[in-house]
Amino acid sequence: MISPAQRIWSACLGRLQLEIPRTSYDTWLKATTGQIVEDGHLTVGVPTTFAAEWLERRLAPAIQRVASEVVGAETRVIFLVAAGGGKGEEKPEGPPVSARALLPAAEDPSPVVAPAPPRQEGLNPRYSFSSFVVGEGNQLAYAAAAAVAQQPGERYNPLFIYSGVGLGKTHLLHAIASEVAGHSLRPLYVTSEQFTGDFIRSIRERTQEEFRARYRSADVLLVDDIQFLEGKEQTQIGFFHTFNDLHNANRQIVIACDRAPSAVQFLEDRLRSRFQWGLVADIQPPDVETRTAILHQKAERARVNLNSEVAQVIARMHVTSIRELEGSLNKVIALAAFLGKAITLDLVSTALPALANGTHRYALLTPEATLGAVARHYATSVHDLCIRPRDRKTTEPQRVAMYLLTTLLNVSPEETGRLLGDWNRRTVSNSLKAVRQRLQGDAAFKDTLDRLMEQM
Ligand code: ADP
Ligand code: MG
Repeated sequence: MISPAQRIWSACLGRLQLEIPRTSYDTWLKATTGQIVEDGHLTVGVPTTFAAEWLERRLAPAIQRVASEVVGAETRVIFLVAAGGGKGEEKPEGPPVSARALLPAAEDPSPVVAPAPPRQEGLNPRYSFSSFVVGEGNQLAYAAAAAVAQQPGERYNPLFIYSGVGLGKTHLLHAIASEVAGHSLRPLYVTSEQFTGDFIRSIRERTQEEFRARYRSADVLLVDDIQFLEGKEQTQIGFFHTFNDLHNANRQIVIACDRAPSAVQFLEDRLRSRFQWGLVADIQPPDVETRTAILHQKAERARVNLNSEVAQVIARMHVTSIRELEGSLNKVIALAAFLGKAITLDLVSTALPALANGTHRYALLTPEATLGAVARHYATSVHDLCIRPRDRKTTEPQRVAMYLLTTLLNVSPEETGRLLGDWNRRTVSNSLKAVRQRLQGDAAFKDTLDRLMEQM
């Protein structure tokens, strides 16, 4: 005979099946059974303490809501760990290993959950989602990181983020860890050196059990700079075991690396198929607008005044590393504080001598000054340089200006098009191609450009 509890819980499972991802359902809910229903409580048998905790942490609100809907009245769900597993038990035998009530939010503002996880040490509070400036090059990585922080283990698992140095990987990993800790989940952020150290020590000191327990208890494991596991075969095996256990338990894994997974042999060999389940997101160097926005944000946080001309000049110096960009800004801020002066272009070139010479000679240039130089050279006006001709074709001075703005000043093609008379991106890139081709074959043209650049 089917008991009322079984009937109610079956109905709940039917609804939950529609709401939550298939793998989560199969792993955590399929083997549960309705046990007792009385006094507004529904007791559900689950196979393990682990399953009970997982359900409490992850699915509490959904289960609570669905049960109340099915019963037609506010219903508390209690998970009982049945000694012989959840399935097929009429009643759990002996005292429950774990029994916790899922309290409706209205009754208890801090419902559910196991005791608060220990806070993870060493997370940089400055590396948060709110302090991360989003631009074209990092928006995918950002969106994926944010989604993972909201619903760990459910959407992109594993999440693999890669980029060159100083582009925000560590920042995003810390942001995820801080965010999930705020949801009472247990993040574990480690660099691959820390992972290696922990693993080797566990073998040397015969504490493998502790190692396993520590790493398997994470809801979200974040491993930074995984490329450093290259060549460490023992540790790699330790990592794969950890990875598989966590992944099978629907725990979230986030990996940062300095190159794509396909370019890391040991990952390619072992985890290729796993990555197909997850998401691989790269971060491209930020465009000049994003770099400028980052500088403004950092200046604001440091409570210093940075005008946009100065910000653009610094932004143009560093094309590939935000860390270097920040370093330059910090030098400028330090010098300004030391001299008790405002941040001007002059002060910037004192603080950052690289600006004054070499490849950064043009960094002090602004787009306006560049357009001025081009206009002078072609004996036209900046105004004429910046309007579309009647025949709607770009003029030579316009093409040259486009070339200088994009190559010397790192102005984006979009911005370049806007400045010179609202050309679209395609026209700009065609013009650039034309200039490059001409530079190859036309010595006189090359000479013209060289002289122009010297005058700038
Ligand atoms: P990676 O780990 O990729 O080498 P980091 O995460 O250490 O790079 O970033 C280097 C510095 O640049 C950090 O101080 C970080 O806060 C900053 N940074 C990187 N990307 C951004 C961004 N999009 N917005 C704001 N700051 C950023
Ligand atoms: Mg890093």
